[in-house]
Amino acid sequence: MRPVRARAPAKINLALHVGPLRTDGFHEVATTYQAVSLDEIVAAEEAEELSVVVSGTDAELVPTDGSNLAIRAAAALASHVGRAPGVRLAITKLVPVAGGLAGGSADAAAALVACDALWQTGLTRAELSEIASTIGSDVPFALAGGTAIGTGRGEQLTTALVRGQSHWVLAVAEIGLRTAEVYARLDRLRARHEVARPRVDVPVTAALGAGDQAALGRALVNDLEPAALALRPELRATLEAGRDAGALGAVVSGSGPTCVFLARDAEHALDLAVTLSAIGVCRTVKRVLGPVAGAQLLLS
Ligand code: ATP
Repeated sequence: MRPVRARAPAKINLALHVGPLRTDGFHEVATTYQAVSLDEIVAAEEAEELSVVVSGTDAELVPTDGSNLAIRAAAALASHVGRAPGVRLAITKLVPVAGGLAGGSADAAAALVACDALWQTGLTRAELSEIASTIGSDVPFALAGGTAIGTGRGEQLTTALVRGQSHWVLAVAEIGLRTAEVYARLDRLRARHEVARPRVDVPVTAALGAGDQAALGRALVNDLEPAALALRPELRATLEAGRDAGALGAVVSGSGPTCVFLARDAEHALDLAVTLSAIGVCRTVKRVLGPVAGAQLLLS
């Protein structure tokens, strides 16, 4: 039998507001996610045991034991439907690891969709999303795609109204950042302050609904950015370089270190990408479009 294949997108955070640390160890967030045209692909085929092989971008940095998010997703789905998790997963990565782009979450979402089809579980998308939320805060969004507001840990989703598409340029740093380390640094930076509950970002939501790219660029915001910049001061130069090259907006994505720039159009995105590549402030530069669809089967 041929393997079943599924794709799932990377995400960027157009707004990320972080509230106080909760008693369960997570921070409450209010974020606006957008899925962008940078895909992970997961192939699943019947096997005696649960295993994963990884190829592509940063494959050597990805664990292949039970901590791999795709393995965890397949195991959770199997347990939910009461079957043995016999499946061989093959991940093809395009999303840089530990970049704040949720590539691991995309792998989990694609694995859920592929195994769901392989095992013909008959579960609804809502049920898959429930399972996704047990794997990680960003996994339900990788499943849903598009543009959405995430609250709670980021797993409670509401679709956002969006007019048109945006042209983004991603500056990927040489070395990734661990999400837990960035949150810990934020807690230290805020140690003397009262932290309010996070609110859904109105300027970003309004700009998306109006399809106003200039307003969207001005509204991009990330509460984790000061912590990411404290850990990686060189990211300031990356953000500055994009702003100097006329980006409508520049922000660190999620826990970083990837920096995200909004371009006016496809041509401007190419100009920005060339400028950022030429000054050598990052490892690679990628041009992507958003929003794109969430995890889905690949039929060919
Ligand atoms: P987060 O979603 O936590 O913000 P991120 O987007 O910065 O993370 P990811 O590439 O998703 O970064 O993964 C972060 C870590 O998760 C990696 O360093 C790796 O150890 C672990 N991991 C587990 N499974 C995977 C996977 N399938 N792909 C990538 N990383 C994985």
